[in-house]
Amino acid sequence: MRFLLFTAVVFGIFYFFYNKLRRFLAQIFQPLTEEDNTAQPGGAPGRINKGEMKQCPACGVYFPAGTGEKSGGTEYCSAECARKGPAE
Ligand SMILES: [Zn+2]
Repeated sequence: MRFLLFTAVVFGIFYFFYNKLRRFLAQIFQPLTEEDNTAQPGGAPGRINKGEMKQCPACGVYFPAGTGEKSGGTEYCSAECARKGPAE
């Protein structure tokens, strides 16, 4: 019975240190930018989504989504295009 208790204590200590070490290594190899990768596309309004491109309905130019000018629910490349509206 004494041996069983000793084994349990050793495993407890080992597990404690294993958890600490694992967190320590995770902090080194996985910086706090992990939340950015799991961000939903088109989530929060006004947020710039990396890599997503939009085409301006007025002049046809491509620009990163979130950086353009919004008018009537449509995003244009610039305020000038937003004023002109979509091309005929
Ligand atoms: Zn435009």
